[in-house]
Amino acid sequence: APVIVWFRRDLRLADHPALTAAEATGRPVVPVFVHDEVTEALGAAPEWRLGQGLARFGQALEAAGTRLILRRGRALEVLRDLVAETGAVAVFWSRAYDPAAKARDIEVKAALKGLGIEARSFAGHLLFEPWEVETGQGGPYRVYSPYWRAVKDRPVAEALPPPGRLRPPAAWPASDRLEAWRMGGAMRRGAAVVARHAGVGEAAAADRLAAFLAHRIDGYKEQRDFPAIPATSGLSENLTWGEISPRVIWHAGQRAMAAGARGAEHFLKELVWREFAWHLMHHFPDLARANWRADWDAFPWRGDSPEAEAWRRGMTGEPFVDAAMRQMYVTGTMHNRARMIVASYLTKHLLTDWRVGLDWFEECLIDWDPAANAMGWQWVAGCGPDAAPYFRVFNPAGQAEKFDVSGAYRRAFIAEGQRNPPATALEFFAACPESWRLSPAQPYPRPLVDLAAGRERALAAYSAREK
Ligand code: FAD
Repeated sequence: APVIVWFRRDLRLADHPALTAAEATGRPVVPVFVHDEVTEALGAAPEWRLGQGLARFGQALEAAGTRLILRRGRALEVLRDLVAETGAVAVFWSRAYDPAAKARDIEVKAALKGLGIEARSFAGHLLFEPWEVETGQGGPYRVYSPYWRAVKDRPVAEALPPPGRLRPPAAWPASDRLEAWRMGGAMRRGAAVVARHAGVGEAAAADRLAAFLAHRIDGYKEQRDFPAIPATSGLSENLTWGEISPRVIWHAGQRAMAAGARGAEHFLKELVWREFAWHLMHHFPDLARANWRADWDAFPWRGDSPEAEAWRRGMTGEPFVDAAMRQMYVTGTMHNRARMIVASYLTKHLLTDWRVGLDWFEECLIDWDPAANAMGWQWVAGCGPDAAPYFRVFNPAGQAEKFDVSGAYRRAFIAEGQRNPPATALEFFAACPESWRLSPAQPYPRPLVDLAAGRERALAAYSAREK
């Protein structure tokens, strides 16, 4: 009788504790992915990216002599059916930590156990389980620096090798065709444009890590804030779908640090920001929906508006902001510094509720991560744990002078006014929906708000709230 391995955000063979444990039972292994109530709720770009990841992972499993069985429906019902069809005695999976996935998994575990099936969840998505890191007084951390100090010297087990040949079951259960799911059918922008910038699958992730270690890690600390320089790893896209494990990255970073790579410790710190985001989301499941500080509930955020729509379309008239929003539309990712700047502009200069921005990121990012996105937005907006103070209003023009000195980033994504715009700048117009009626021949828009006036308005709203 086989063991079912239920894949979710862990589309890899290497360093996969649940898969290794399934192999170790000596039983046949049935790899399964369920397009369920959690994945049905994904934004357009994350869903599209998941489809790409599943296609690649299916190929990798076939090359390893096995298959990926695809099913659609409520996870609990689908798994119950599969257990009945295959006679499986166990279902193994890697843990997830966002509230929707946790609720699903708790229900699945209880139901399978009720049927006498072994239901086991494993670590794998994180370096440290969120409940294993506690402050001196007990309870979760709310501030990053002490969290980092608490984990930085903890032992992390070595990564596991990929399994050997997985035993196939006597008969394979039926599988849906991936194309029939039309993952990313909701992408209003050209998926072909975004596809040119994606790096899908376990092999692509390993290549990214190797390239980062070979060429970028030394200069990482000095260069990571300059969006025109390819100074960061680009691994978020792969990490979010588990195409590489954080443990593999952690040990590679540690070895680089031991060998004297200057940027290595800073890189490890960033990787631990990801851990911290999941720590927060596990302990504060409302992180993506509610102001973490309840005293922000009375803040006069504006809801959606024509200005917010101009922000989404990269048409605010503020070049650094627009370049960044267009970068996200064309490539499915955005540089970290730019994420902070566009988030600050939306929540402060446009006084808009951070959830409006969070939702658009969730729609557009191929590296969308429920925890990092929520933490990032609350951090910039000023209402989150360990947040930047609200009165720290990024000035996008000043930021451009500092971090895009030559204008290379703005030129890469804003075609208007350029005689020979680069491909990326033109791709934006190819990608955006016709209903937006945008063309590179139009004049670049005038600024939506005067930067100084917008800043004053934000600070006035903030001090009114303080009273
Ligand atoms: P590198 O600089 O190479 O860093 C290595 C890894 O560390 C990243 O892949 C990522 O997993 C992690 N990391 C780095 N910075 C952060 C951070 N600030 N918070 C959490 N983890 C971090 N990251 C996402 O993965 N998905 C999101 O949806 C997301 N939304 C964000 C929204 C806002 C408003 C902000 C300010 C930040 C957001 N981030 C998000 C964090 C960060 O911008 C990206 O992780 C980073 O740009 C990814 O590029 P990289 O892989 O080249 O990072």
